Amino acid sequence: MMRQYELVERVTRYNPEADEALLNKAYVYAMQKHGSQMRASGDPYFSHPLEVAAILTGLRLDDATIAVALLHDTIEDTDATRAEIDSLFGEEIGKLVEGLTKIKRLDLVSQKANQAENFRKLLLAIADDVRVLLVKLADRLHNMRTLHHMPEHKRGRIAEETMEIYAPLAGRMGMHDMREELEDISFRTLNPEAYETITERLEDLRERNKDLILEIESTLTERLSERGMAALVKGREKRPYSIFRKMQRKAIGFEQLSDIYGFRVTVGTVEACYRVLGVIHTTWPTVPGRFKDYISTPKQNDYKSIHTTIVGPSRQRVELQIRTISMDRVAEYGIAAHALYKDGELGGRNIAHYSESEDFRAFEWLRRTTELLAQGDTPEEFLENTKLELFHDQVFCFTPKGRLIALPRGATPIDFAYAVHTGIGNTCVGCKINGKIMPLVTELHNGDEVEIIRSPAQTPPPAWETIAVTGKARAAIRRATRESVRKQYGALGEHILTRAFARAEKAYSEDLLVAVLDEHHQASVADLLAAVGRGDLSAQAVLKSAHPDYQDERVAISGPPVEEGWFDLKQGHGLKFRIPPGELDHERQVSGPADENGAGPALPIRGLSGDIPVTYAPDGGAVPGDRIVGILTPSEGLTIYPIQSPSLKEFDDQTERWVDVRWDIDVDNPERFPARLDISAANEPGSLATIAQVIGENSGNIDNVKMMQRAHDFHQMIIDLEVWDLKHLNRIINQLRSKPNVSSVSRVNG
Ligand code: MN
Repeated sequence: MMRQYELVERVTRYNPEADEALLNKAYVYAMQKHGSQMRASGDPYFSHPLEVAAILTGLRLDDATIAVALLHDTIEDTDATRAEIDSLFGEEIGKLVEGLTKIKRLDLVSQKANQAENFRKLLLAIADDVRVLLVKLADRLHNMRTLHHMPEHKRGRIAEETMEIYAPLAGRMGMHDMREELEDISFRTLNPEAYETITERLEDLRERNKDLILEIESTLTERLSERGMAALVKGREKRPYSIFRKMQRKAIGFEQLSDIYGFRVTVGTVEACYRVLGVIHTTWPTVPGRFKDYISTPKQNDYKSIHTTIVGPSRQRVELQIRTISMDRVAEYGIAAHALYKDGELGGRNIAHYSESEDFRAFEWLRRTTELLAQGDTPEEFLENTKLELFHDQVFCFTPKGRLIALPRGATPIDFAYAVHTGIGNTCVGCKINGKIMPLVTELHNGDEVEIIRSPAQTPPPAWETIAVTGKARAAIRRATRESVRKQYGALGEHILTRAFARAEKAYSEDLLVAVLDEHHQASVADLLAAVGRGDLSAQAVLKSAHPDYQDERVAISGPPVEEGWFDLKQGHGLKFRIPPGELDHERQVSGPADENGAGPALPIRGLSGDIPVTYAPDGGAVPGDRIVGILTPSEGLTIYPIQSPSLKEFDDQTERWVDVRWDIDVDNPERFPARLDISAANEPGSLATIAQVIGENSGNIDNVKMMQRAHDFHQMIIDLEVWDLKHLNRIINQLRSKPNVSSVSRVNG
């Protein structure tokens, strides 16, 4: 296992300004946290984060990334917390470690095959700092290198995942060495026979071509030095998996592959690249159509190099790549090369300049990440179509069991609940986000773990429809709302009907209703009750059809007190109304004979939660404290009238439309309600001012004043004002009446 000082030395070698104390602290902390945990190999667990850190020093990453590598499994696998890491290492490192923790949890999720696509997107979305991806790739690389220690049945899945997700990601980030190593180990695991065959043949070929390789290498080195050019010439061999892929893609045999061997020539300057090209082209014959200049026209991922293929001494084709040292680093390290270094090409020496510019880091990283990940060279490349949008349009969250839920950006826990299951959405009453109770309107973020709190008694409030952003949630809410409205109309209908039957002293039963369904064009008893509840069908009509002997006596409302069951009509100016225990019936005995049989049904429902629209009667509505009654109008809902309203007369013969309601309002409700006064006052200077003053001193709001009549000795006016409640209104009325120049004050109801 690498020693602490060795790791620090590795970092300071390429970054002399690295924060050694930070590295030491992370090393000790991670080692202590992982304690006696073991790897499948039998090694101490800590050897893993240490190796991951070592891989990243190979990519010459900054000290924070190395520290994150050391800490990357602490939150998930030990008792370490984000808060602790924040306090010890700062928030930046804490955030990166948390990002890795989230991705680690994803590994569990990705076991479900159909999640692969979501998983890839999520990975990118979560890693909003490219360093998280770099550490994750190094983590995966080390796990792949030690894959043979894993139980056999687990290897396949891990290798598949690596092949599907991590290797392409490394490639997309321009880290070709890492990509190839990940691919080869996966390939060996997934297709051992093919791997075996190809490696054997490669060995064969290597043996046979040993001299050839040496010959080309020495010829080239010689020719270059003759011209005073310093260059590094390195033979290279295609990796097993890339040979396999090429054979598959082109449907050709091993022997037909022409570019298993190649050379890479590394020089100091761009100019030298073209001079080397000249030397090569004058030494060997070239293969037409194989010359590519990616220096003058770089690939989209910033890959720069000159490619050419020659016909070698034994008539075999050999590809040569010519590039500068900095181009080579970009080609090898990809995004990591951009991450921290601007390199110079001074004198052909490999000099990396550590950039101290925070701006450079922030912008360059972000730009590169987005660009590189967004651009797909070929259709089979990692990110198929709309990569950039991934970052903007979607969020990915988890259920507590780790299921991944993809949602549009701006989605709320309500959307989440419906995405999991309609039944969960419909019974949702609250939520926890990352373990904390949060409002249901909270916007979800990538990686959030959402737990839905449910209650079987719940039905979704209609207002949710405007909060939800997903079509699925909205449709389900609308459906549930419609259903609950239908149920409530049904309950109302039953209430109205049973009372009508009781008052008529006629038997009421479901069978009786079934018998008259056809007559009223209803499909079911529920439909019939809802029709009565909506006011589409009168109770009298049902009564007459069920009991043809019944004579309409035109009784108005009255009836037994309702002992239990309250309507809560929460809608309409934020008010609540309740069906009172029959108090309204006693008030309204004027309009009809009192009901003698007191045994009416109790209203069985609680919480008619605002689904029936509630409005106020026009012209001087009702204020809290007024006795009120609701009148049900088909397809419009419930209109609230004060009991003294003359308009109520026109409903006297439609008792089934009457709904008993009462105020249910907090004492300190800040809301005001409109009332209308008819005032006569002496026509003398100051009388209008007096009226306004009285109303103002008593905190009444005047909405409107209308002069009705203006005689030489008095004038009559209608004043619309807003008050808190009846007590408030009465105080104003009494004070107005006490003024000598006010002759009469009366309340007006429409
Ligand atoms: Mn790990």
